[in-house]
Amino acid sequence: MSDLVIAIDGPAGSGKSTVARTVAELLGWSFLDTGAMYRAVTCEAIFRGIEVHDAVAVAGVADDVSLTTLPRVTVNGRDVEDEIRGDEINVAVSVVAANPEVRASMVARQREFAAAQPLGTVVEGRDITTVVFPHASIKVFLTASLEERARRRGDEGEDSVARRDEADSTRAVSPLRQADDALVLDTTGRDVEDVAQEIVQWLKHNLSR
Ligand code: C5P
Repeated sequence: MSDLVIAIDGPAGSGKSTVARTVAELLGWSFLDTGAMYRAVTCEAIFRGIEVHDAVAVAGVADDVSLTTLPRVTVNGRDVEDEIRGDEINVAVSVVAANPEVRASMVARQREFAAAQPLGTVVEGRDITTVVFPHASIKVFLTASLEERARRRGDEGEDSVARRDEADSTRAVSPLRQADDALVLDTTGRDVEDVAQEIVQWLKHNLSR
């Protein structure tokens, strides 16, 4: 098992998932999309008729669900891959993600996942560089203009993306913020492969020091 981790954070649409997946492919490492985990818990709470502001009930869902993110996002065996990207979830997920007990449960699962991978893991989210893996092999913070981020998010729209970023950056627990020792990359107008190669070079540079 490997303790090598590339931690990637950034706002919605900054390119985290696409870049992280490409880096994982280049290295032959595993990939973990932690946003999909918060989305899946949100989806299951709504499915059970739970109000997302009911912190105790939602924490109960987070604790007892079984989750997969690859090859498809599933909750208790139910495929929610498409459903988790819908408007209802876009609106509710920031509320669920601000719940400290939900976060504790997700963070434990994320650390367990990485610890079980044979080569290394590329993990992306909002608190990966600051809270989940503060001692990651390398930390990366991706940014992009709001216009480009909204364009990448397609149907979600600029207002929803901006609202989610505001909620994620200002919440009390594990807000999105740039780690002091993160490599900061603006992906606006940049090719995915090019950004991924830069991260791989940064990893090699850091591992050889
Ligand atoms: O990355 P994605 O846009 O799918 O994330 C959905 C939501 O999940 C974010 O807006 C945020 O509220 C939450 N999230 C989080 N911490 C993470 C990953 C995602 O709070 N590590």
